Amino acid sequence: MNYISLYRKWRSQNFDEIVGQQHIVRTLKNAISMKRLAHAYLFTGPRGTGKTSLARILAKALNCKKGMTPFLCGKCDSCEKITIGSAIDVIEIDAASNRGIDEIRDLREKIRYMPVEGRYKIYIIDEVHMLTQEAFNALLKTLEEPPEHVVFVLATTEPNRVPVTISSRCQRLDFQRIPLAEIKTHLMKISKEEKVTVDDKALDLIARAGEGSMRDSVSLLDQLISFAGNKIDSDQVAMLLGGVGEEMLFNMSKAISANDMNGVVSSLREAIDAGRSASQIVADLIVFYRNLLLVKLNASEALELSQDYLERLTLEAKSYNVNRIKEILKALSKTGLDMKWHAQARILLEVALLELLEEKCACPPKPEGRRRETKSEERLPSAEPIVATATDGRMMKIKKHWKEVLDYVKKKSLFGYVSLHEGHPIEINDTNQLVINFKKGFAFHKERLEEQNNKIVVESAIKEVVGEEILITCRVGDAGQNNVLPVQVVAEIFK
Ligand SMILES: [Zn+2]
Repeated sequence: MNYISLYRKWRSQNFDEIVGQQHIVRTLKNAISMKRLAHAYLFTGPRGTGKTSLARILAKALNCKKGMTPFLCGKCDSCEKITIGSAIDVIEIDAASNRGIDEIRDLREKIRYMPVEGRYKIYIIDEVHMLTQEAFNALLKTLEEPPEHVVFVLATTEPNRVPVTISSRCQRLDFQRIPLAEIKTHLMKISKEEKVTVDDKALDLIARAGEGSMRDSVSLLDQLISFAGNKIDSDQVAMLLGGVGEEMLFNMSKAISANDMNGVVSSLREAIDAGRSASQIVADLIVFYRNLLLVKLNASEALELSQDYLERLTLEAKSYNVNRIKEILKALSKTGLDMKWHAQARILLEVALLELLEEKCACPPKPEGRRRETKSEERLPSAEPIVATATDGRMMKIKKHWKEVLDYVKKKSLFGYVSLHEGHPIEINDTNQLVINFKKGFAFHKERLEEQNNKIVVESAIKEVVGEEILITCRVGDAGQNNVLPVQVVAEIFK
């Protein structure tokens, strides 16, 4: 037997099976009972909300052998043909596939012929906004003088792209996203009939992932059955969706609220290791903090969250105040945008997360009497010829203690630390500055480290650890070979 997708198998076949859209179902049922049909309907709304299903049900109701009725039989010759898509009088045109030029021309030629089998000819034009101007013009002509035996159903996800000349001649019915609870109930029914066990959390995730589209949710369930067999849990759903699991999000949030840098870095790494992209993590964190904000503002009802998840969020929300959550959301949104233009999305995210912590860290004190000019002669009293060696000796010392410099910076500025971590000290240049080199693609860190606050922290760290005041300068490029080598050589000698 050929495989039939779950969505097709469980597609609504009559008005009572339609999930959601009760206002539309009522309007159409009344129109049929009272024989007050419009010549043309415009069905608008998001994908997967039942527009095409309802158009076919309308067609069945109009042509059912039992008579024109909202209670179509579903069994007669006409109903069955419409179900399997072989009814001559029901013409479906997909405007998205070839923009409808030939079909609309054909429609104009044949529209005046009477229906062959039923009472009405029903034209269902899907994604009608995709028609060409020429096709729209042809359609308009038929809508201006529609024959009595014709009903049009124009469906679109983008009603504002349908010309007003067309939409003004239709009765418009707006389909809404299907509420989460109704999708969930429907999924539960399908999985029961299909003898598949899906735990409640998984059902919730599947329903939520559809974002109001029944088709998307049912297709996801279908994929999960192929992927996981007849027992599905929330981990499998999270894996298939590529989303960041609930645990990871809570771990990350806990680390952020506790200003725990290691926790942030390790939970981020865990998510990346589990195959999540940086942009997915940001997107999921934004949803997480948005939920947290609404919980905090006692406005969580709109979220349609499951009870235990809501309780968990409520508990988590206690670690935050409203302003902090807003700040975090702002920063994450900005990071999400920045990441689109940045090759090092992961690093950008890491920095952004650490920056969220930094706000609570003590700012490093500005060193007093900070001098932009380094009086090299004070520390290098020797004559010209041995300056180079002395510089190499200092460089060696810096390299030797670099880890300590990093640790010092880490305590003062997490942000400075993350950027400095990507750079390498390579030489002391002619103007007695320590050159920190960043590899190509790390210009972002170079720029951030050059910011005055961060520079001061690094320079005071060097002073603290190495015992000398050395200013830093940053650059991007391949590490300077001519300077790295001598230091290593000197290091070898002093070993
Ligand atoms: Zn029938």
